[in-house]
Amino acid sequence: MTLHADYDPDNIFAKILRGDMPSVKVYEDEIALAFMDVFPQSEGHTLVVPKHVQARNFLDMPTLKLGAYMERVQTVARAVEKAMTPDGVVVTQFNGAPAGQTVFHLHFHIIPRWKDKGLAGHAAGQMADMGELQAIADKIRAKLG
Ligand code: 5GP
Repeated sequence: MTLHADYDPDNIFAKILRGDMPSVKVYEDEIALAFMDVFPQSEGHTLVVPKHVQARNFLDMPTLKLGAYMERVQTVARAVEKAMTPDGVVVTQFNGAPAGQTVFHLHFHIIPRWKDKGLAGHAAGQMADMGELQAIADKIRAKLG
């Protein structure tokens, strides 16, 4: 998938947004949906996806919609930090397959980091246990301000 291509309305996150695929939700309003990454790179790895846009990546995102969306990214990142009490938090996103992007609907990753713990691979490895993801999502949701 090149950096510039048509938006695929059947990408995984579009299906999650439509409710056609399940997700372990953390936060939802009219602007964004946040849910747990099913291949978490660390405990608490959360994704924040903008709603009502056909933006494959950050470059595509309508500028006027960016501010409200980034507010939600920060809201969720703060809740993840409070819930997981990591030593650091990575907030990142990738644009285009050569940059590491694997799902082509804009999303920010919120990835807690601990000094003594490594990171699992990106979009790889074993799918997380849904019960464990739900318990983490509950903890994060409880810290949403
Ligand atoms: P990207 O590579 O596009 O930056 O990130 C896509 C992320 O989506 C990866 O971290 C991957 O683990 C995650 N992912 C892939 N498929 C699914 C899915 O069906 N559900 C959820 N919740 N996450 C997914």
